[in-house]
Amino acid sequence: MALPQAQIPPRGERLYEGKAKVVYATADPGLVRIYFKDDATAFDGRKRGTIGEKGRLNARIAAHLFRVVEAGGVPTHLVAVAGEQELLARRVAIIPLEVVVRNVVAGSLARRLGLAPGQVLEEPVLELYYKRDDLGDPLINRAHVRLLGIATAEELDRIEALALAVNRILRPYLAERDLILVDFKLEFGRSGDDILLADEISPDTCRLWDRSTGEPLDKDRFRHDLGGVADAYAEVWRRLEARG
Ligand code: UDP
Repeated sequence: MALPQAQIPPRGERLYEGKAKVVYATADPGLVRIYFKDDATAFDGRKRGTIGEKGRLNARIAAHLFRVVEAGGVPTHLVAVAGEQELLARRVAIIPLEVVVRNVVAGSLARRLGLAPGQVLEEPVLELYYKRDDLGDPLINRAHVRLLGIATAEELDRIEALALAVNRILRPYLAERDLILVDFKLEFGRSGDDILLADEISPDTCRLWDRSTGEPLDKDRFRHDLGGVADAYAEVWRRLEARG
C-alpha cells in the first residue's frame, strides 16, 4: 500500500524487542512501526555481533520482497517504508510457528537427515518449528500444532499454501538476479480473520547462494565467520534494486 510519508504515524511505545527488530506502537491501534537493528545473533543467541548497515539493508530487502510476493497474491503485513531502517506494518498476533521451506539441502536438514549439503531437492520440503526459545524452537508436525492449539487445520492449510506460494514466486525472481533461494523461514500473523505473512524476508532469514560461485550471500557468512557479511547483504540489495 502506498502511503505518503506525511501520513506515516510516529513511533509510540515500544511493544516488543527481539534479537533483530524492535516493534513500536503508533497512534493507530492497527499499525506498528518495525525498526530493523544492526545486531545479529546465531545459534540460539550464543553468537552475537553487529553487522554494519544490516538494519537499513534488511528493511529495504524485506519491503522489496514483500511487495514482490504481494504482487503474486500473498497478503503481507507491510504497509509502507517508514524511514531509513523502519517499516510500517499492520499489527498482527504472531502465530508461534517458524515455517521453513527448502529447495536445496543445507543447515539443519543436512545434519538431521545425513544428506549432502548442496543437493537440489526434487520438490520443496516444508518444515514447521514451534517458536519457543526456552525449548530451542523444536521441529514439530501438524499433529503437534493441533495438540498445542497453535492453529486450526484450516489455518495450517492456508499457512502452508502461502509459504509454498512465496517459494514459487521468489525462487524464479531471485534466480533472475543470479541468487539461488536455498531455504527460508517465514512467520505468519492473524489480523482479524486474515492470515498475513509477517516478520521479514531477508538475508537473515534466507539462504541465498550466488548462482555462479555458490558463495553464500546471507547470514551463514556471520554464523560461520566467512567475512564480508555486510558486503554480502549489500550485494543482495544491489541485485534487487538494479533489476527492480
Ligand atoms: N532460520 C531463521 N531463523 C531461525 C532458524 C532458521 O531465519 O531461528 C532460517 C535460516 O536462515 C535458513 C532456514 O531458516 O534460511 C533453515 O534453517 P536451518 O533449519 O537449516 O537452521 P540452521 O542450520 O541455520 O540453524
